[in-house]
Order: sequence, then structure tokens, then C-alpha cells
Amino acid sequence: MQQIAGHCECGRRLEWKTTVGTGHYRESACACGRRHDVELGASGWATVAQLTPERSVPLAGFSTELRAAPDAERFWFSHPLRGDVALPVHILFSPSARKAEVKAADLKVFHLDDVSHPTTARRRWIGWWQHRRRGERGGGLSPLVPPRVGRLPVAWIGRRTPSLASH
Ligand SMILES: [Zn+2]
Repeated sequence: MQQIAGHCECGRRLEWKTTVGTGHYRESACACGRRHDVELGASGWATVAQLTPERSVPLAGFSTELRAAPDAERFWFSHPLRGDVALPVHILFSPSARKAEVKAADLKVFHLDDVSHPTTARRRWIGWWQHRRRGERGGGLSPLVPPRVGRLPVAWIGRRTPSLASH
């Protein structure tokens, strides 16, 4: 049986028999209710993130539909949103609907479909967040596209209109 390096915050060792998922990322459920994102690295399987259950999520931003789901599960994890300051990020997840909503600080809620586990929602949210941050730093939609490019057609129309009117 596989071994997982790392302990839950409650002190228990993570057990392979409680893991679900396939591939190089698994989710391990601790008896205390926390979920761990377990990743296969160079030195074997290890926990890379911990999701802690919470009784309620902040109401603002989350959909009524998901909040009312009978099997709704709520977790939070911390993530360095601004600089090195870690802030709580909230996950609302319905296993039967395979839907999740993720919200951090004053950011808008991120909706996800086809979610199998709450740790999957975390991974996909981080991917979205990092993509979004790269966009902000580049000053445009993508660092590969200078912001000026988007204005060229407008400038072209502006130049042409007077000459068309004079004909
Ligand atoms: Zn635990």
C-alpha cells in the first residue's frame, strides 16, 4: 500500500486507503473531516494543501441554488492572494450536482462545473487566479498582446471617416 508523507492539522497520519481520484493528484479525507490534496512528487506522495470544513460560507456572492443543495459541503483553505499574505478562500461544493463555487476576499465568485472533489475545485480556482493575475500585470488581456493593439481599428476608422465624407 502507498504511503503519504505528512500529517493532518489534527495530528493524524494521512492514510492511503481514504484517497480518491486518479492520476498524480488525489484527495485524502482525514477522520476529522479535513480533506488533503495529495500529489505525487519526486519523493513520493505528499500532502500539498489542506481543506478545512466550515459550518457556513459567507453568504454574499454564492448562488442560492448551491447554498440550498441538500448535500452542500463547505471548506476553506488559505492562499497568498496579495503578496505573501494568506487569506481564507471558501469553497461551496455539491457532490451530486458536481458543481462548486469558490470565493476569496472581495473577488467575485468563481463557478465550476464537472467538479469531482473539493480539492479539484481548489486546483482549478488557483489556475484561474494565476491566469487572472498574469493578465493584470501585463496591463492587458494577455502579456503577449500589448494593450495598444486593441485600439488600432478605432484609430483607423477615425482617420478614414472625414475622407469618405468629402467624396
Ligand atoms: Zn485530521
